[in-house]
Amino acid sequence: MDRETASEDQVSQYDGFMGSALAQARLAEAAGDVPIGAVVVRDGAIIAAAGNRRITDADPTAHAEMLAIQAAAAVVGDWRLTGCTLLVTLEPCCMCAGAIVLARLDRLVYGAADPKAGAVQTLYRLCTDARLNHQVELISGVRAEECGQMLSRFFQRQREAGKK
Ligand SMILES: [Zn+2]
Repeated sequence: MDRETASEDQVSQYDGFMGSALAQARLAEAAGDVPIGAVVVRDGAIIAAAGNRRITDADPTAHAEMLAIQAAAAVVGDWRLTGCTLLVTLEPCCMCAGAIVLARLDRLVYGAADPKAGAVQTLYRLCTDARLNHQVELISGVRAEECGQMLSRFFQRQREAGKK
């Protein structure tokens, strides 16, 4: 696990919440989408949860993080998600990392790194770029193996299905 600024007790509680994000990822997969899930936590409780719906909704922006942020803002009744933490199974892309900054989320916790599109630590560092007007605390690598394996198994099955 890699953490930029979180304390030990903050880190320990994220395992369970990542389990809820993984459950959202499984639901996304059952619906035919790529298995990625996200939850938003405030005051130690989940206030919003979503899975990737890009195929289901035929919407290129329907990533789990975007849907979870929109749902959380509706619950809070404010576009600012100050005091909230977003957990997601895969490192966010440029769009989602941008939305995380715009939503003024306190903290981002993610599972697996994304070598192809990760915009938080891998290809870009949008959530901690000092040139932007908000920086997000980061915790990465939470249940990373499970999060990554769910994706690699999904893509392997897709390839196998494509061969038939
Ligand atoms: Zn995204």
